[in-house]
Amino acid sequence: MKLAMIAVALLLPLVAGAAAADADEFDFFYFVQQWPGSFCDTQRGCCFPDTGKPEPEFGIHGLWPNYAKCRPANDGPDAAASIDMVVGGHHRRQKCWPEYCDDSNQLLPFAIRDLISELAGNWPTLSCKNGGGGPSIEFWAYEWKKHGTCSGLGQHGYFAAALDLKRRDGGLAGILAAAGIVPSEDERYLLSGIRGAIANATGAIPNLECNRDAFGETQLYQVYQCVARDGKTLIDCPLPMSGRCSDRVKMPPF
Ligand code: AMP
Repeated sequence: MKLAMIAVALLLPLVAGAAAADADEFDFFYFVQQWPGSFCDTQRGCCFPDTGKPEPEFGIHGLWPNYAKCRPANDGPDAAASIDMVVGGHHRRQKCWPEYCDDSNQLLPFAIRDLISELAGNWPTLSCKNGGGGPSIEFWAYEWKKHGTCSGLGQHGYFAAALDLKRRDGGLAGILAAAGIVPSEDERYLLSGIRGAIANATGAIPNLECNRDAFGETQLYQVYQCVARDGKTLIDCPLPMSGRCSDRVKMPPF
């Protein structure tokens, strides 16, 4: 009897660990940074956070766990996170990343208190929800709940990892400027030039996403850097991304 109880006590953590493994089952992270000029000049517009107009630098959007290979989506909770893809000539719902892994795990400001001023400068909200001009922590809390809870990191570890990644290359705007790619009302830049400049400076090939300004012109919107599961090592992005870019894109002033 005593032996049986010891065996159960030893096995329990393993069983519990197996159940929790779903949350951090992913292959790499996307570290997504956004050019504020391209968020703001769309028809939807933007609002500045309560800390004022952000610097003209890429801001963090999120650190997103992702699968290297999309998988068939189940019905139920998976359906919301799934996208329609053509697989073997048929349309299939596919799930390419995990999300909302623990809705009971709400972001606690106290857990990230030492990071808040650095986060405010580097991860600003530009949303006009709730009248605009609100605190960026609502944006961080949303990203934590949707993506962070699937990262296998704690609250502090998740936000510290994002800030470390952002600090490392000294700013994407500076990297692009060094390659002659500067915000401009009229200039259009080769997409391959943007990708190449970031790859040369960081040692890893990123994915790029574009959106359209109020006149329908394509512009650089977000840079997706790929990061190994350790949350630190940049890797070449393993998945091609359509990203809605054309061969030449604008980078509007901010
Ligand atoms: P996600 O669900 O993590 O892919 O993020 C997409 C959501 O984030 C959309 O609702 C966007 O409107 C919102 N979003 C994107 N950039 C910002 C930003 N800079 N500030 C606030 N919300 C944003």
